[in-house]
Amino acid sequence: MDFNLTEEQQQIRDEVRKVCREFPDTYWREVDKQRGYPDAFVKKLTELGWLAALIPEEYGGSGLGITEGSIILAEINRSGGSATACHAQMYTMGTLLRHGSAEQKKRYLPKIATGELRLQAFGVTEPNAGSETTRIETTATKRGDKYVIKGEKIFISRAQESDLMLLLARTTPYDELKDKTRGLSVFIVDMRNAKGKLEIKPLDIMINHHTNALFFDGLEVPAENLIGEEGMGFRYIIDGWNAERILVAAEAIGDGRWFVERAANYAKERVVFDRPIGANQGIQFPIAQAYARIEAADLVRFQAATKFDRKERCGAEANMAKLLASEAAWEAANACLNTHGGYGFAAEYDVERKFRETRLLTIAPVSNNLVLAFLAQHVLGMPKSY
Ligand SMILES: Cc1cc2nc3c(=O)[nH]c(=O)nc-3n(C[C@H](O)[C@H](O)[C@H](O)COP(=O)(O)OP(=O)(O)OC[C@H]3O[C@@H](n4cnc5c(N)ncnc54)[C@H](O)[C@@H]3O)c2cc1C
Repeated sequence: MDFNLTEEQQQIRDEVRKVCREFPDTYWREVDKQRGYPDAFVKKLTELGWLAALIPEEYGGSGLGITEGSIILAEINRSGGSATACHAQMYTMGTLLRHGSAEQKKRYLPKIATGELRLQAFGVTEPNAGSETTRIETTATKRGDKYVIKGEKIFISRAQESDLMLLLARTTPYDELKDKTRGLSVFIVDMRNAKGKLEIKPLDIMINHHTNALFFDGLEVPAENLIGEEGMGFRYIIDGWNAERILVAAEAIGDGRWFVERAANYAKERVVFDRPIGANQGIQFPIAQAYARIEAADLVRFQAATKFDRKERCGAEANMAKLLASEAAWEAANACLNTHGGYGFAAEYDVERKFRETRLLTIAPVSNNLVLAFLAQHVLGMPKSY
């Protein structure tokens, strides 16, 4: 058992840290205020190859593992930024890598690695299905050498900042299926050719997340863009969930560390009643408690990432890492806000922005209730609760 980062991992962390220093609080604050997209930051990360970390070297990436990917994303959030703007460019291609044909991989992966093609939209969630993904209603109907897509998606992030989207759609009606996990298929959709057949409607939400409702009105997708076998899409998507949960856990860890550092520093400096507020247990204990929980969650994140990279089963660890890290980050966010008192609400302290941003991680990409249901059923053997 070795709890230390390797030299290479430390180097990755330090280099990403250096890049992030070029994008200080004021940068992220302004992007948030404008509801803009952090173009310059994403461009820089892309140029330096960090978003191609998980793409194998033969396709132009750096062939690193989830452990290293998680170190990169954690560092972005620890610096005060938000990895959600670009994390999907790192991992959405995993479905293509694992289940795509040799021809598809050759066609897309090298361009995704350079950033020439942005694959950072992932179309799963629908208004009527919610967390029950096997109930999605968007259909892909085969007509000759094309599939015709009709339906609606909700909360699809970065659709306007992406060239390609990985889309989950129904290829067999729900009622005709014996096994309800079948009948869904995954496609690569080129959104550059979708004008008039795909409406993208930005959603006004609590955070600056570039998330949208999508309306498909007979969008044609070449049959050659089907990934893997028709009807197996849900399985393929599930295969990517562990990676996503580990990476999101790392982002939460990064947030948590940011909150703890900011809170502790402020608590040392802010003097009220003639002494630093951090001298009061009511202020210092919640920060210390959050710190301990973040460090604990981080161990589970590294355990999950290590197992993932060794190709061992890691569903339990990946889910626990996501659960523990998102809750620890939220606890740290509250401790940090309380420590700052009224100033916590002032945009110039950045606490309120990070507070809003980290709250998402308990709900998306999967809500923690669903994580608990997974643990209860699949790890502890209790009855299915839904
Ligand atoms: C900012 C943002 C970005 C997103 N980006 C994307 C994206 O890019 N692509 C994409 O496909 N989706 C995306 N999502 C969607 C996200 O994955 C879903 O919101 C999330 O999975 C929850 O689904 P829902 O909102 O439909 O909640 P619902 O399924 O309606 O659930 C509502 C509440 O009920 C709880 N609940 C439901 N069923 C049960 C049960 N059986 N037991 C206990 N509790 C239950 C849930 O935990 C939740 O708290 C995004 C969401 C947000 C907010």
